[in-house]
Amino acid sequence: MRQYSGIKAQHRDAILFFRMGDFYEMFYDDAVTAARVLGLTLTSRNNGAAAEVPLAGVPIKAADGYVKKLVEKGFKVAICEQLEDPKQAQGIVERGVIEVVTPGTPLDEAMLDRERNTWLVAVTAVGRAPAVSGAGPSAKARWDADRIGLAWIDCSTGEFGVAEPAADQVVAEIKRLGPAELLVPREWRGDVAGPDVGVLADLIAAPRALDPVKEWRPDLPVSFRDGWRFEIETARADLCNRFGVAGLDGFGLGDFETGIGAGGAIVRYVEEVQPGALAGLRPPRPLVAGEHMAIDDATLANLEILEPLRDGGKAATLLGVIDRTRTAPGARRIRQWVARPLTDRSLIVERHLAIEALVEDGVAREKLAQALDGVHDLERLAGRAAAGRANPRDLVALADTLRAVPVVRRIIEGLGQGVLDGAAGAPGGRWGLLAEALLGHPVVVALIDEAIVDEPPATLGEGPVIREGHDPEIDRFRSARRDGKDWIARLQATERDRTGIPSLKVGFNKVFGYYLEVTKSHLAKVPETWIRKQTISTGERYVTPELKEVENEILGAEERIAAREAELFALVRSRVGEHAADLQSTADALAEVDVLASLADVAARNGWSRPRMIDEVGIFIEGGRHPVVERWLQGETFVPNDTRLDSGDTQVVILTGPNMSGKSTYLRQIGLIAVLGQMGSWVPAEKARLGIVDRLFTRVGASDNLARGQSTFLVEMIETANILHNATDRSLVLLDEIGRGTSTFDGLAIAWAVSEWLHEGPAHPLTVFATHYHELTELESMLQRVRNYRVEVREHGDEVVFVKRVSRGPSDRSYGIHVGRLAGLPGRVVARAEEILANLEAGEWSADHLPALAPGALAPDPVRRSSDQMTLFGEPEPHPMVEEFAALELDTLSPREALEWLYRWRERSG
Ligand code: ADP
Ligand code: MG
Repeated sequence: MRQYSGIKAQHRDAILFFRMGDFYEMFYDDAVTAARVLGLTLTSRNNGAAAEVPLAGVPIKAADGYVKKLVEKGFKVAICEQLEDPKQAQGIVERGVIEVVTPGTPLDEAMLDRERNTWLVAVTAVGRAPAVSGAGPSAKARWDADRIGLAWIDCSTGEFGVAEPAADQVVAEIKRLGPAELLVPREWRGDVAGPDVGVLADLIAAPRALDPVKEWRPDLPVSFRDGWRFEIETARADLCNRFGVAGLDGFGLGDFETGIGAGGAIVRYVEEVQPGALAGLRPPRPLVAGEHMAIDDATLANLEILEPLRDGGKAATLLGVIDRTRTAPGARRIRQWVARPLTDRSLIVERHLAIEALVEDGVAREKLAQALDGVHDLERLAGRAAAGRANPRDLVALADTLRAVPVVRRIIEGLGQGVLDGAAGAPGGRWGLLAEALLGHPVVVALIDEAIVDEPPATLGEGPVIREGHDPEIDRFRSARRDGKDWIARLQATERDRTGIPSLKVGFNKVFGYYLEVTKSHLAKVPETWIRKQTISTGERYVTPELKEVENEILGAEERIAAREAELFALVRSRVGEHAADLQSTADALAEVDVLASLADVAARNGWSRPRMIDEVGIFIEGGRHPVVERWLQGETFVPNDTRLDSGDTQVVILTGPNMSGKSTYLRQIGLIAVLGQMGSWVPAEKARLGIVDRLFTRVGASDNLARGQSTFLVEMIETANILHNATDRSLVLLDEIGRGTSTFDGLAIAWAVSEWLHEGPAHPLTVFATHYHELTELESMLQRVRNYRVEVREHGDEVVFVKRVSRGPSDRSYGIHVGRLAGLPGRVVARAEEILANLEAGEWSADHLPALAPGALAPDPVRRSSDQMTLFGEPEPHPMVEEFAALELDTLSPREALEWLYRWRERSG
């Protein structure tokens, strides 16, 4: 147990699988936890004089499944092996941890999702860690600083990214990645002395920046490492050292600080838990602010880019519509592209033109699809080879893939010719560049082909792996084994002749090896030299010295073959692994080819068009459609609509129309077209001219926003405040029913003021505001660049038809009352409603500046405005909540404080 305690002390944050013979044993709390999570029986063992020790174990053979289950539940598992043969060991067998499997660092195929990266994400803030002991309030304040550093690694692909997002982008960036595990400075924990593993919800000293992530995934596994590991200068030196460079400028990290801190810490962590992954680790790639369209997390969610708001799975998302990739790396890459559209016009156009070449060449598209179908996950195969994890079948799959590469290359070289005159720089455009990167790596193919059989087993020892003729030693042993087996095969005939026992048989079993079997009636003829081994009901079994000798030769040969195969296989694998970096660049190119092919396929099938990217600010769409709604409309055809947004005369569009008329769909389709265009895709429109958007904001009014559980008017306002602070002249702002979460007049007033600000404020972002506040349409006559649009509705007799067509002008405001009539409201009610409406429109106000809603026949009391809700009946009562609300400092309010405020009020309202 002393050995155990020593090892356990180094792996406090993991469940320790302690190898003992054919079992992994767990002790103490590990045993209790594992028994609970895995449903194992908890036993105990007497530890000398001390108390009973809880104990649980799993058999080696079934261990993978148990490890996977634990890791999926957010635990880490440290695998502690016997490092020497127990038979040869003197005293206690030497043991050591060879790998810690954590949620964010798996290499095993069984634990990976083929279509998604498994990201480990490190987060840090400011430059210098507070002293380890200084977890007090002052230390916390320092970590709370705005400069957040992020780094992320996918151990299975070697991808390594670094960023220093603006404070308002941190959460979006983390959500975009969708991490499997977070790594943060230990000081972010409340109790520094506690165990090293936790879930996000426990992070109490973390910067506020992580609060929304906590809300999103409170059970996200978090690992803690000492703050000094995040220290910038240490990290910089460490990274330079690892990648063999004098400085990080060459990687584009010249201006980075906290990002480098996170990068250093994350690499060290990987080294600690999954050292094999370092061999395939690629140099860090910075995510530079401004190179991508900033899409905050609310927008990412509202536009359903990666995840659906409600149900429907991937099919209900933008990603689902555009992902027709053929390979796993392609699927992972297209997810990255759609989550991070570009802002560099020439890069975008390069992609558009590449797609054009393929859209116009249906034959090439078909050929390319076929060629890609023969391609395996080169990215992860190369990673596994480098980590020494690839199995024999992996190597064959790798060689097969490399053989398909030249085929792909020939197809896209042909495409390149077609766009030689394209606007983009390189000859042959993007296809030309990709073709250059698509190397067949004949050296690697030869390495594998020469050594490994065509169809090896997945695991060594379960069939021949090394090819005949590759290694004289293996050939010699194989022929010895063959000779031996032939000799034994002939033995039956020769011995029958020699002894005259016609029923004599040669057999084999695991206990005795080869034997000669004689039935009872012939026992008398058995030669004296035979040695009796076993009695069975029908006779006896014997061996002979020669038979044993030959058998030993066979077994010896088998052992030698196995050892030599393992040795040679490891050699081939490590030689292949040496090429990992080159293989990764081919894998990158292959993934991009797959993505472009997918986008071309989608464009061709769905009749999308190539958008023209313009330098000016503006969005001009003819016949635009919503790519996801269009696809899932049942029995109806999608009605295309035009959009015109330009900084000159249509900067702010006020879009009105009744419920269910198609406002939200129209609004979102504009955002999705902007995202598609800038990710390099074609767009669902007849024609589109798109100015580059730097930031995309989408806000959905609280009551429309069912999916976001906690969402309330306050959150809506916080998000709106964020837009008003961060939008620029190049931003696109899509507001859907903002202001709806409060009383009519409040909401209208806010909507009005927000619109004014977007028009008159410091920045003039392109804006579409879908609203049921008809009053907002008056803005058109007051503000220069505001234009009214409406979604048309027609009546056919008693039927209301939503024609889903957007046209110029405000909507018909009496529409709601009209629907009321159609729905069978009593005539008096309808008439009364019309009267009230007329008064409202006429702007009749009472002496005390409250709108006098036509005192009259229907209401028993004069109807007045209550300050928090428009009530038709009852006394007006000013509500204290509204006053308190008005006094809130939204800009400095943390989400937590906001929530607390809400809970307090909910409690008070019973
Ligand atoms: P609103 O926001 O005005 O209440 P929505 O945008 O939610 O309306 O659309 C209401 C319904 O109409 C949705 O089910 C949507 O699928 C359908 N729809 C919206 N726009 C169109 C369109 N252009 N063509 C066909 N169906 C549409
Ligand atoms: Mg709507």
